[in-house]
Parts: sequence; structure tokens; C-alpha cells
Amino acid sequence: MNSGEKLKKYINISLIILGLLLLSDVLFFHSFIITAFCIILFLFIGMLFWKISEKVFIIFAILIHIIYSLIIWRKDLPFKDTPFLLKEILFLSFFFLIMMVLMVSIKRKKEGKNARLIENHIKFKERLDGIKDEISGIEEKILKTDLNIEAILGIYDLNKKFEKVDKIEDALNIFSKFIWERYKLTKYFFLYKKVNNNEIIFEKYSSGFNLNHSVISSINIHNIGELEELFYQTGRVYIDDFSNSKKYYKLYAYFPAEEFISFPIIYDQQNIGLFILFSDKSNSFSQMFKGETDILSQLIEGILKKGLLYEQMEKLSITDGLTQIYSRGYFNKEIEETIEKSKRNKDPFCLVIFDIDYFKNCNDRCGHQFGDFVLTELVNLVKGHLTHREIFCRYGGEEFVIIFPGMKKEHVLRILEELRISINANEFTNNRQTEKITVSFGVAEFSFELSSKEIISQADKALYTAKETGRNKIVLYSEKKC
Ligand code: GH3
Ligand code: MG
Ligand code: MG
Repeated sequence: MNSGEKLKKYINISLIILGLLLLSDVLFFHSFIITAFCIILFLFIGMLFWKISEKVFIIFAILIHIIYSLIIWRKDLPFKDTPFLLKEILFLSFFFLIMMVLMVSIKRKKEGKNARLIENHIKFKERLDGIKDEISGIEEKILKTDLNIEAILGIYDLNKKFEKVDKIEDALNIFSKFIWERYKLTKYFFLYKKVNNNEIIFEKYSSGFNLNHSVISSINIHNIGELEELFYQTGRVYIDDFSNSKKYYKLYAYFPAEEFISFPIIYDQQNIGLFILFSDKSNSFSQMFKGETDILSQLIEGILKKGLLYEQMEKLSITDGLTQIYSRGYFNKEIEETIEKSKRNKDPFCLVIFDIDYFKNCNDRCGHQFGDFVLTELVNLVKGHLTHREIFCRYGGEEFVIIFPGMKKEHVLRILEELRISINANEFTNNRQTEKITVSFGVAEFSFELSSKEIISQADKALYTAKETGRNKIVLYSEKKC
């Protein structure tokens, strides 16, 4: 039982007692004033707690008042000898007035309470509506975010795959699979700037255009002005109605599509690459990409930078720091591959090891720094006698190796003799000092039963023989002589 129910119970008991008092008063004392007083009180409480309307209360109160007044006025009824009649009437009126005031104030309070309740209710409703709006807004966002989450997950996945690959070509393969699966796009063109021996070349990759390799490699950024312009842009360029574009008609000839979006790749404030994504449907990029374009362009940028870094690292690991030719590690790999290829294609090849004669003396006379200078100059001189096919490596110290793929010993011996003569004739000078050097060569021709170790050993033995037999000479390995 809560406090409200308890109160109701006490009131009911009080009213019953009041009713009994009233009855006994009428029956035994004939005191009508008390009876009237009790009835009014009874109705008043009833109005408060039994929901008797105030109209009923007023009507009853007035009726009782009038009846009582008439009774007193007529004076022919019982109680006519009751003293203080006027006083009683006044008292009853006063009591009635208080009851009225009380009732009105309670009503007002109730109304105020109701008004506050209504006000609160309205406020609450407004808040609820606001929250509902917010929720539907969030729902919309969630719907949108759902797409983004899907995109983000896709991109996260893509990124994870990229982490596993180092080469740009491998990353592009993964990327092209991704744009096909996600956007049903197959066409892209990607090129990046590469500096090779002070020569700038553009590596190019294309997908979805059925262009053969020779066409792709014939695309020259300098001849296609629009491509060069796109390459050196600082932001993306989106072109719709590509087929009717006057500006990009040359590009269109190579890459026919409805529209394209290009992403310049910038590294260290320099434009180093360009990625162009093509679509055969018009108006597809704006719908497809939404917020993903930024992430995608960053990702493409990331792949390229990573690829470039990898290339640089690979180059560093295979390049000799002083002479910038291939290192011994690269030679070890290349000799195996050359042997494989030679066996497969039944091709000849020769291996040459050469070493500067008395280089220690040169260092002692002119200093180590000058010795370095001689080494780099010698490398440049040797390079001048070779084509791009030969593999020229620093084997260690002042010892070098050259692989002559596809060449027989006669041809190689001729080249080496020319080289030997030109080294012999060359003056290595840095304005302050001048030195002349000679070089000894050991040559081994590949025969199909040889392993890499064996052919290296043969060339080494031939070099040893050259050193032993007077230096500044070329010795071809033969079992009898070496
Ligand atoms: P040989 O004709 O028998 O080959 O005589 P050599 O003096 O050339 O042979 P040796 O093996 O006794 O000495 C090789 C010298 O090459 C020793 C070393 O100071 C020098 N050398 C090796 N690598 C470098 C290099 O990177 N820079 C310079 N400046 N000298 C080097
Ligand atoms: Mg030497
Ligand atoms: Mg040596």
C-alpha cells in the first residue's frame, strides 16, 4: 500500500466518522448548523478525493445555505429558539466563502500543475521529436556510413595486400583487381618517372585497352601535351564526355572511354607519376567514388612511393657505392641466370675477371683518394667498350667481372684486347696527379657441363696465369696453361 492509498483509506474512515457524527447530531441535538457545516465539508473533501465536480459542490453548498437561511428566516421550524441565529448564518456564509476560496485556489493550483504538466509534456514531445529527427538522421548516416564502412573495409583489405608486395607492377595488379571488383572498372593507365643513368624514362602500365607492349612503350609524354599537363598537375582532373573533348583527343586515341579521372603522384614536392582511371559509362566517378577518391589517390600515391623506395633499395643492394656498377651480390645472381639461359638456349657466353696490376703501388704513391678516382675512371673507360647487354660488376677491391652473354671467346678476346690497349694508353689524371695503369684479364668460355663455381674458378685461374706471366695481358683459360 503506497502513501496515496493510505491517505485515501484515512479519509474514507474520517468521512464515515463524520457521516456518523452528522447523523447523531441531527437525531439527538437537532443542530442544523453543524449538520450543514458537515455536509459542506463532506462534499468539499468528496470533491477533492472522489472527483465530485466543483459545480455539484457549489450547487449543494448554495442549496444547503438557502435551505438553512429559509429555515432560520421562517422560524417556524425546529431550532427556531436556537440562539445566535444571525451569527450562525454569517458563520456559515463565511465558512462557505473560505471553502470557495480554497476550492478555487486548489483548482488553480491543479490547473497550474496541469499547465506545467502540459508544458512539460509539450517540451518532452518536442525533445522526443528532436531525438526522433536525430535518430532518423543517424539512421541515414548509418546507411551512408554502411557504404563507407564497406569502402573502408575494402580499402583496408587492399592496403593489407599492398603491404605484402614491393614491386609497383605487383601492386598495380592487385589494384586493378580491386577496382574491377569494387567499381567494375578495368581501364587504367599508369606511368611514372624513372631516372636511369641520368636519363629520364617513363615506366608505363596499362590495363583494359588491348594495347600491346610496343604501343604502350611508344606513348611519349613529351609528344602528348595533354598527358604531360596531367602529369604535372597538383590535383586530380576529372573529365566527363571524354569522347567529345577537344583538349584530350590525342589521349582519347590511345585510351577510348567515356570519362576519366587522373591522380598526379607527388613525392618530395615533385610530380613523379600519374594514374588515370577510365570509365566506359558516363557520370560514374561522381557516384562511384563518393568520399573514397581521396583515400584511393592516397593509396595509389602510397603504392608508387613504396615501389620507388623498393626500387631504390634494390638498386642500392645491387649497386657498388663507389663505381655505381653492379655489386658482387648481383653478379652471383646473374651468373646463375646466365648459365640457366645458356643451357636452355644452347647459347655461348664468356666470363672475364680482370684486376689492376700493382694497384697497391698506385695507392701508395698517390693516396687512397686518387686510387678511388682511378677506379671510377677505369669503370667509365670499360663501359665505353661494352654494350647494354654485358653485365659489368665490381667483384671486390680492384677486381672486376664482365659476363658477355651470347658471345664466343674470339669475339670477347677482340673486345678485351681493344680495352687493354686503351687502358694502357690512358692517363688517369685529376689535374694534380697523373698515373698510368695496366690491367690483367682472365677469360673463361662456358661449356655446358660447367657450374657457376667452376667457370668463376677457371676465369680466376686464367687471371692468375696472366699475373704470373708478366701482367698487362689477356689469358684464356685452358687446362694445359692454367
Ligand atoms: P697485383 O698486380 O698482384 O694485383 O698487385 P696489386 O697491388 O694490385 O694487388 P694487391 O692485392 O696486393 O693490392 C690490391 C690493392 O688494391 C690493395 C688496396 O689498397 C687496393 N684497393 C682495393 N680496393 C680499393 C678501393 O676501393 N680504393 C682504393 N683506393 N684502393 C683499393
Ligand atoms: Mg691488383
Ligand atoms: Mg687484386
